[in-house]
Amino acid sequence: MAEHPQHPPPEPGEAPAPPAWMAWPLALRAALFDPESWRESLEAYADSTNLAVALVDAEGRLRGPCVNPQPTWSRLHVAHERIGGGCPFALAPRRPCTCVRDALARRALVLARDRAGLVHFTVPLVLDDQPVGALLAGQVFDQYPEQLLLEHVATHLGLSPQAVWQVARLEPPVKRATLRVYGRLLANLGQAFLHARYHTLLDAQRFEALEQRFQERSAALRREIAERQRLEHAAHQAEHFALLGRLAAGVSHEIRNPLGAIFLHVDLLTEELQELVPHGPAVVAETLAEIKTQLMRLEDLVQDYLSLVRVGTIEPQPEDFGRVVQAWLPEFAALAAPQHVGVQWHGLDTLGCVACHAATLRRAVLNLVQNALEAMPQGGTVTLVGQRTATAVHLQVQDTGSGMAAATLARIFEPLYTTKPGGTGLGLYIVQEIVAAHGGQITVESHEGQGTAFTLRLPVACDEAGAEPV
Ligand code: ADP
Ligand code: MG
Repeated sequence: MAEHPQHPPPEPGEAPAPPAWMAWPLALRAALFDPESWRESLEAYADSTNLAVALVDAEGRLRGPCVNPQPTWSRLHVAHERIGGGCPFALAPRRPCTCVRDALARRALVLARDRAGLVHFTVPLVLDDQPVGALLAGQVFDQYPEQLLLEHVATHLGLSPQAVWQVARLEPPVKRATLRVYGRLLANLGQAFLHARYHTLLDAQRFEALEQRFQERSAALRREIAERQRLEHAAHQAEHFALLGRLAAGVSHEIRNPLGAIFLHVDLLTEELQELVPHGPAVVAETLAEIKTQLMRLEDLVQDYLSLVRVGTIEPQPEDFGRVVQAWLPEFAALAAPQHVGVQWHGLDTLGCVACHAATLRRAVLNLVQNALEAMPQGGTVTLVGQRTATAVHLQVQDTGSGMAAATLARIFEPLYTTKPGGTGLGLYIVQEIVAAHGGQITVESHEGQGTAFTLRLPVACDEAGAEPV
């Protein structure tokens, strides 16, 4: 135990290096010295020893209130505070009281007496071999107070010497030996409480980290489960449609030949009738035309299914994409004309080279054009716009039709989804499959009441000079 009634001045260059515990998270340091958590222990100590006690940080600053301040000290302290500075327990020492610093440096109890004759002591608080703070206690006389000395201090602080003396003479002095015992008690109490608090905080931190890891893991697990379910669902759907596709392919193959024969015979019948009865009843011609229209729808359906079957086996060849699309334009225009829809195009001349299976890709664009026509029963315009970027060729099919609501837009690529009374809901599903088989993507933009634009993006296959892939 060290005692120094005379406070030695700090040695030059002796300033201690900032303790390593400063590297701890601020919140942990603050929680360690949370005055509220220390209050109960310090009050119990002050009650049983009748000393004042306070918690200070490693720089000697008070953390929380001074518990149980003593009468003479309180009187003098009020005035002293106006003078200010130094150790919070020392009153008017000749030199600044360095008891906290000394106790931390020596890791020992340090006793100090101020000019009024009041004694206090400091016990260091050490954690992981680092001084982290201290406890101050005392503010009592260790011998009968010296009247002259006290009155001198009181006068110096601008207080009534008699009043201070009247208070001080009633204070029973506490023997040095007793103060040392109290000091050891406080040191043990302080260390025990500090360690308990420290471990509680560490456990709380560990628990928090554990909890966070647990949350993260369960979130990742939930995502994984959702993704697995999605994949399982997609695989199940793919299997389902593959089976459906095979079935449809078989049926389509079987239907194609009789359908061709029926077409032929309807044409023959029309010619025959024309020759036999040139001015026959209009109803016969109309009926034949209607049969042909329905047959064409059937043919369309068969072609859709067949292109879906082909999609898995197509072998795209490098083609001048602009020229390929231009070759389809007369057919699209012929389809559109009866519906008072004009077909326009631009940007198709210099699109460059795309690896494609033209017949299959035609099916995709035809489906888009057919949808566009169906969205414009009152007429309008279909525009095909070509555009070339460094790595891709874009073909956009725009219409000036009904557009789509967001809820429809979200589902249009689902197989069998349709909003049309006679629709199959296969068109866009097939388009998507065909585009994917070409290594491309399809996107859509639509504004209700204004129109829709589907964009196909296909990778560029070779540069202008026809060289191999860029
Ligand atoms: P279907 O044409 O047989 O209904 P699709 O797969 O071709 O099947 O289209 C699915 C749905 O997408 C259509 O029923 C329609 O609601 C919507 N749709 C597709 N293209 C357009 C378009 N250009 N304008 C407005 N709605 C469209
Ligand atoms: Mg369609």
